[in-house]
Amino acid sequence: MKTTLKINTTVREICDGFVYNELEGKGLFGLSGKLTIQPEYQRNYIYASDGGKREMAVIESVLKGYPIGLIYFNEVSADNLEVLDGQQRITSLGRFVTDKFAIKDENGMEQYFGGMAKDKQKKILETKLLIYECEGTESEIKEWFKTINIAGVPLNDQELLNAVYSGPFVTLGKEEFSNSQNANIQKWSAYIRGSAARQEFLERALDWVSKGNIGDYMSRHRTDKNITELKTYFKSVIDWASSVFTDVESEMKGLEWGRLYEEHHKKAYSPAKVSAEVHKLYADPYIKNRKGIFEYVLGGSSDTKLLEVRVFDEATKKATYATQTAAAEKKHASNCPLCAIGHDASKDKIWKLDEMDADHVAAWSKGGKTSSKNCQMLCKTHNRAKGNR
Ligand SMILES: [Zn+2]
Repeated sequence: MKTTLKINTTVREICDGFVYNELEGKGLFGLSGKLTIQPEYQRNYIYASDGGKREMAVIESVLKGYPIGLIYFNEVSADNLEVLDGQQRITSLGRFVTDKFAIKDENGMEQYFGGMAKDKQKKILETKLLIYECEGTESEIKEWFKTINIAGVPLNDQELLNAVYSGPFVTLGKEEFSNSQNANIQKWSAYIRGSAARQEFLERALDWVSKGNIGDYMSRHRTDKNITELKTYFKSVIDWASSVFTDVESEMKGLEWGRLYEEHHKKAYSPAKVSAEVHKLYADPYIKNRKGIFEYVLGGSSDTKLLEVRVFDEATKKATYATQTAAAEKKHASNCPLCAIGHDASKDKIWKLDEMDADHVAAWSKGGKTSSKNCQMLCKTHNRAKGNR
C-alpha cells in the first residue's frame, strides 16, 4: 500500500464543485468532481444536528487558524478519490462556502459566507488541509488505519507533526525516543511524563532543544541524516538534573527540565547540600507545592512563591484581628502595628478585617511557623511592603 501526504490542498480546491444533497443529507462531491465525499458506506452528515454547533466549530477553527486535523482519502483510480476520514469536516466547509448555514460573529450576529468581508472569505478559501492519500486494497487500508489510529484514539500533536515532517530525521528520532525497548526510557521516566509509544519522549526532547518551537525545528531538520544535536542536548539536560538532584522524587516527573537547565546549569551546586535541603523541604508540612521545591532550591532557596506555603486559616486571622484591634483601641493607636509606629495620618487608624492581611511574624523561610502564635495582621499596604517572605 502506498500513502502520500499532501499539505497544499486548499479549502477552495476541496470545495470546487461541492454538491450537498439535502434529501439524502449528504455532501457528495468536491475537488472539481474528482472527490467523492460521502461514499455509500459512510454515515450521513451529522455535524448539522445539535443546532449545528459542530459545523460552526469547524469554520471557527479555520478562521482562527487552528488545525482541523488530518484527512484521509482513498485513491480509487487516477481520477477518483474517496474520503475515508474527514467527510464531516469537508461537508461542513462545503456547506458553509455554499451558504447553507451561518456562523455567529463577535456580536452574535448571523454571518453567511456570502456576506463576509473579503479577507475572511479569502482566509477560509486559502486554508490548507493536511491530507493523506492512500492507495491499496480495502483490507490494506483498514489494517493501516488500525495502526495509526489505535482503537480510535485520535493522533496527538506530536504524532501529527511526525506525519507532517516525516523523513529521515523523524525516523531516527523515533528510533531513539519512541522505542520502549530502549533501556534509557526507564531512567528518563523519572523526569518525563507520558509514553514513548505516543511520542511524548520525542516531543519533550524536541521541545527542549528547540526552546518550545517544535514545528520550526522539525521543518528545519526534516532531511537531516542524524539527530546528534537533539540527542546531545537531551542527554545534557537529563545528566545535569540527575547530578544536581541525586535522589529521584516522584514530583520531578513532568517538570520543565529544559527551562530549568537553561536557567541554572552554569551554576555550581553541592549535591550533598542540595539533597539535604530537598529532604528538609519535603518534611515541611507548610509546603503545599512540592513540585516547586526543585526550582526553589536551584534558585538559591529564595522564591517562596514556588512552594505555596500554607497561609493562615480564616479562624486564625479573625482571632488575631480581634485581639490586635481590642489592644489598639485601648491605646488609641492603629490596629496595624506598622501603621501604629509611623507618623502619618494612619497612625491611629482602625482598619477593617478585609483591609488587612495575615503576616508571618517570623518569616516562614527563616523557620517561622504557620500557627496563630506567629500570625499578625497588617494593613494591605504594609503587608505588601514586607514583600514575599
Ligand atoms: Zn499599616
